[in-house]
Amino acid sequence: MNSHSGQVILVTGAASGIGRATVEAVVRGGGSVVAVDRVECPVFEVEDHARIVTMHGDVTVQEDNEEWVQRAVKRFGRLDGVALNAGIATSGDILDLPIAEFERVMAVNVTGVLLGIRAAVPELRKVGGGSLVVTASTSGIGGDTNMWPYNASKGAAINLVRGLSQDLGADAIRVNAVCPGPTETGMTTGIKSAPALYESLRARIALGRWGQPAEVAAAISFLLSPASSFITGIALPVDGGVTANTGQFLPKQNTC
Ligand code: NAD
Repeated sequence: MNSHSGQVILVTGAASGIGRATVEAVVRGGGSVVAVDRVECPVFEVEDHARIVTMHGDVTVQEDNEEWVQRAVKRFGRLDGVALNAGIATSGDILDLPIAEFERVMAVNVTGVLLGIRAAVPELRKVGGGSLVVTASTSGIGGDTNMWPYNASKGAAINLVRGLSQDLGADAIRVNAVCPGPTETGMTTGIKSAPALYESLRARIALGRWGQPAEVAAAISFLLSPASSFITGIALPVDGGVTANTGQFLPKQNTC
């Protein structure tokens, strides 16, 4: 487990999946968390609930991002990092999908990340640095059939991270991304209930199984923690080997 002792971390998209697991990883590691989502957060599975504040809001609204940061400072005295994790997916044909739907995905997955970073940077500067971790995707590294809006948004998020790492390094603010592969969360429940699609994705994962939210949260926790103090500007695949494949052959399948 990574140590978050003394750290105050803001987590977006905290009500479900990877965000929820990130809140729990940070608190179990000794940190305090402001957990935000547009929907009600669940009761988190941690021992010390006093180190979690939950808030409502929308990552695409500048005032919400600013309010969350100010709440972290007021309640816990400082801010050390943000997991910019809230995200949505959509799919559709290039000629049929309404442009408004493309813009909605870009607003949450790209502008929402940018607004979160802008709100946090002044407070991170005050404490001499910090860590910003964006949940991007393997879909930001390569393309998926009919998922061009999501591909565009996650690709933009990855290069936003790379660019800002160059601007914020001088302030000791690290900016990184994780790129999950197929992970069993609220976002993918529809796929889980479609066995053929679930299995076709599983067959492309070298480790032979889908990922769990806690496995992605462990990587986010590492990048938020001081253990990753010399890492900035990376896009870390947490994908069971999906992006290691050339696309020419499926990985060896489990024969047990
Ligand atoms: P999830 O649906 O379980 O959780 C996403 C959370 O984000 C939800 O609680 C949702 O309410 C919240 N959210 C969405 N839009 C918001 C907004 N505008 N403001 C505030 N909160 C908002 O899905 P998840 O898989 O845990 O997703 C977390 C991140 O992981 C997303 O960025 C997603 O794109 C990324 N991701 C997921 C997978 C996967 O297979 N599950 C793979 C790659 C990347």
